[in-house]
Amino acid sequence: MSQTETHTFQAEIQQVLDIVIHSLYTDREIFVRELVSNAADACEKLRFLQSGGTDAIRDPDIAAGIRITTDEAAGTVTIADTGVGMTRDEMVENLGTIAHSGTRKFLQAVAENRKADAQLIGQFGVGFYSAFMVAKTVTVLSRSHQSDSTGWRWTSAGAGGYTIEPGGELPRGTQVILELKDDAKDFARSPEIERIVKRYSNFVTFPIEVGGTRLNTVQAIWARSKSEVKDEEYQEFYRYIGHDTEAPLFRLHFTADAPISIQALLFVPSRNYETLGVSRIESEVNLHCRKVLIEPKAKGLFPEWLRFLKGVVDSEDLPLNVSRERMQDSELLKKLNRALTNRFLKFLAEEAEKNPEAYDKFYKEYQRFLKEGVLSDHDHNEALAKLLRFESSATETGRTTSLAEYVKRMPDGQKEICFLLAGSRDAALSSPYFEVFQARKYEVLLVSEPIDEFVLDRLHEFDGKRIVAAEKADFTVPDEQPVEGQLTDDEATGLAGWMKTTLGDAVNEVRVSKRLVGSPAVVLEGDRYLTTTMRRTLKAMQRDHEALPSGAPEFEINPRHALVARLEKMRHVDAELAAQAAAQLLDNARLSAGLLEDPRAMLQRINGLLEKLLAPR
Ligand code: ADP
Ligand code: MG
Repeated sequence: MSQTETHTFQAEIQQVLDIVIHSLYTDREIFVRELVSNAADACEKLRFLQSGGTDAIRDPDIAAGIRITTDEAAGTVTIADTGVGMTRDEMVENLGTIAHSGTRKFLQAVAENRKADAQLIGQFGVGFYSAFMVAKTVTVLSRSHQSDSTGWRWTSAGAGGYTIEPGGELPRGTQVILELKDDAKDFARSPEIERIVKRYSNFVTFPIEVGGTRLNTVQAIWARSKSEVKDEEYQEFYRYIGHDTEAPLFRLHFTADAPISIQALLFVPSRNYETLGVSRIESEVNLHCRKVLIEPKAKGLFPEWLRFLKGVVDSEDLPLNVSRERMQDSELLKKLNRALTNRFLKFLAEEAEKNPEAYDKFYKEYQRFLKEGVLSDHDHNEALAKLLRFESSATETGRTTSLAEYVKRMPDGQKEICFLLAGSRDAALSSPYFEVFQARKYEVLLVSEPIDEFVLDRLHEFDGKRIVAAEKADFTVPDEQPVEGQLTDDEATGLAGWMKTTLGDAVNEVRVSKRLVGSPAVVLEGDRYLTTTMRRTLKAMQRDHEALPSGAPEFEINPRHALVARLEKMRHVDAELAAQAAAQLLDNARLSAGLLEDPRAMLQRINGLLEKLLAPR
């Protein structure tokens, strides 16, 4: 009597199979990943049993491992493992009878996507059936680790169910033999299998042999405890996954359980390749689930502004119920993103504290990304603010300060954190905007790039202190000794009024300044949300003039300056000459603020004034 039994697949499983057989044509190579990860799971279970040391295990001398062989002539590929194996009943249940919850979710996802995607298969825990993408028939030979087990043979062509019969004398473990479809014969070539194993399964814990060669020699060190990993191992690993011959600047190896399970090993390359090269870099953090690669260069794991990171994130919570497409906007991915980003920013803050020199180096390379982070989303601004560094009037040239240090140094009267944009440190320290700070001995952050202004403006406050542009700060020069010839309050107000009339629409308002010491006058931006330099930057970036609020600048004059005092006298003597001088004073102030766009009128005026000055006497 034949011992062969014929079974039908459970209805949902048959549906999965029909999809796999009839509509999956791309990414078919992932069947290797799926069968190898099943083999690795079986090895893992064996190792667990062995460590328990309870029951006698069949073939105790055979170590857990995976071997893949190909037969090009026969058109077959065999994935064999020495893991726990399956009993007859387990084969019936696991490979065809009991549809687990993933099966239904897979079917749902396919229905929603309106197209099947081979990637879905592994993620819904129906990986075994991926074999049918490439195989006409699949044969599974297996013998359980249980001491009284015998070998069994399971065979199926997908449609029409499967058969099961005794399989004779077999070693412990499972062999999955695929008889390849005509259009999948390439998978019977050993180099092809080798390539796929290297791509997806390089970090599997158990040895994988393909065609007699041991492949996976790089260990999944991220899954080990930090104290057990040697420095050289980290270096070797980084060289391997980072494709970088230089040592990384930073390395962060950590695990977390809540709110989501994470094992991560992240690296900051020693150089920012985006400034070196031409193109935008892409995050090179690979997403794994229990050491098996789920998505290389995974999208959405980190915010865009951390795209310089390289490494590995492994989460066993991830792939079972999410497809790759839908993972992009899933809650799970957001959780992962938040947890990883918070952890990395915390790490940077710690390094800045413990290791300021290394942090400085990091900051020089990567500050643009942190600033991009401030400008692109609000979620991490508090943490990012702590990481920013700027030169200031209190630091030595080329040295920087953190906002926290700045706040610590703030004297009693100073309520706000102030910054000043200028082309250079010298230009900033000799600009009219700095005079009041110098007089008050207040510190000001010196920034040299327009983006810094926008970043500080966006932060808005730090440690409860408002962050404002120097020109917006409401400080006054403390009372000083009167200067010979300085204007009285009445004279100064009178001059300001006259100047407003003379200058007309070129200025919004003329005021007597309380912020100037050595300069005769200064222009200030009238719009409360802009600074003079922001206006200049925006203008340069702008294609049409719509977005920019219109408005002439405010103009402040220094009643203690000789030029201003003489102007007051002159307006009563030669009003026309005084008007020209007033206009020139305004243009000078604009020029020093970088706001003078068209110098032609000014040059004409200067030439006229020179002519007068040089008139024969
Ligand atoms: P999953 O791996 O997510 O459970 P699969 O469809 O890949 O789903 O596999 C179904 C089940 O078949 C596994 O859970 C396991 O019980 C069994 N199985 C598959 N391959 C093997 C193997 N090589 N050794 C032992 N059991 C296996
Ligand atoms: Mg599986």
